[in-house]
Amino acid sequence: MKYVSILGSTGSIGTQTLDVIKQHPDQFKAVALVANKNIDLLEKQINEFQPLIAGVVDEQAYTLLKDRYTGSTKLIGGKEALIAAATIQEATMVITAIVGAVGIEPTVEAIKARKTIGLANKETLVAGGPLITSIAKEYDVTILPIDSEHSAIFQCLEGQTKANVDSLILTASGGPLRTWPSERIASATAADCLKHPTWNMGSKITIDSASLFNKGLEVIEAHWLFGFDFDHIDVVVHPQSIIHSMIRLKDGAILAQMGNPDMREPIQYALTYPDRMSLDMKHLDFKELLTLEFMPPRVDDFPALRLAYEVGKIGGFKPAVFNAANETAVYAFLDGKIVFSDIYKIVTAVLESMGPDDTFTLDNLLAVDQWARIKATEFINRR
Ligand code: NDP
Repeated sequence: MKYVSILGSTGSIGTQTLDVIKQHPDQFKAVALVANKNIDLLEKQINEFQPLIAGVVDEQAYTLLKDRYTGSTKLIGGKEALIAAATIQEATMVITAIVGAVGIEPTVEAIKARKTIGLANKETLVAGGPLITSIAKEYDVTILPIDSEHSAIFQCLEGQTKANVDSLILTASGGPLRTWPSERIASATAADCLKHPTWNMGSKITIDSASLFNKGLEVIEAHWLFGFDFDHIDVVVHPQSIIHSMIRLKDGAILAQMGNPDMREPIQYALTYPDRMSLDMKHLDFKELLTLEFMPPRVDDFPALRLAYEVGKIGGFKPAVFNAANETAVYAFLDGKIVFSDIYKIVTAVLESMGPDDTFTLDNLLAVDQWARIKATEFINRR
């Protein structure tokens, strides 16, 4: 039996993780669940999965749930809920399914508590790559990717020595604006951007998919997960999202991992690794008509991808600022405070206002993350 703690159990990844757990009740048990404020869904999950603890980060929502809940699961409120779930003694694995750099501290604590990490929360690795990877090494903790592209690369790399591999090839659906004419993209609305063609995901990552910030974050995530330099990480647009990603070997051979776009597949592989189990989902059927297209990303129209390579190569706190400014700008876009093209402009402006880097400690990382959010908010308020 594997005992699992889920940070962000009410979101897209969190609910799909619980679906996988439900499919294998003799293999997995959810011991801790944490949400931000969706207490109605969390309460249903508590009743169904009977975890030892459940957390609600939003204090008001926590009070509401505490006042009406009468079961035996221990409720924890506030940010401590994330730390409690990340370090709960009974868990062997922590699934980081929360969105944003708020995942940094609980991920660090989970690693220090020697939990295997199932990493969906890419923002944490983008912002804190040097720290997270060095702590994971120090505590001998495995970080298993859940992002479908990274799970695919992880699977393709199995059995290969690094010396065999020339490069990693991340596939990108291209997002909902992929075919839009250049002059229309700047004024895409949140509703336009939320219509993702192949994946059903939370709103922040869906906006990131439209801007290609998501692919940029994934390039940096791949760098930290697999240790390849940025000149050996490529991106190709593949609108069908059937090939989840690939590796190119030194002799030119390409290995690809395929399947229907369903996040339960990479989630389950992180849970069962290195074993495989059956999974009830619509599997790829080659008897159905299957067309696979590939094209280069439109980096001039979606410049966030190029910017991600630039900040990734510079390193230090640049990726953390890139991430924090983007998070802030995306929520401002979703709130109707800025237009789509402002997201990139705000991230660039915040990056340009950065001073010299301090040493890469957790405290400095959190301070830089906070600074970038304040700076991005200043730029947003001026628009
Ligand atoms: P969602 O927005 O669907 O869910 C986010 C979850 O995190 C919810 O449970 C939410 O709680 C919780 N949450 C949000 N803010 C906080 C906070 N401040 N403190 C504690 N909990 C919080 O996101 P996704 O599931 O789409 O994405 C989660 C992560 O996985 C992201 O990093 C994303 O990039 C990554 N990912 C997602 C994929 C997908 O298919 N969805 C694919 C690959 C990666 P509440 O419901 O109460 O608001």
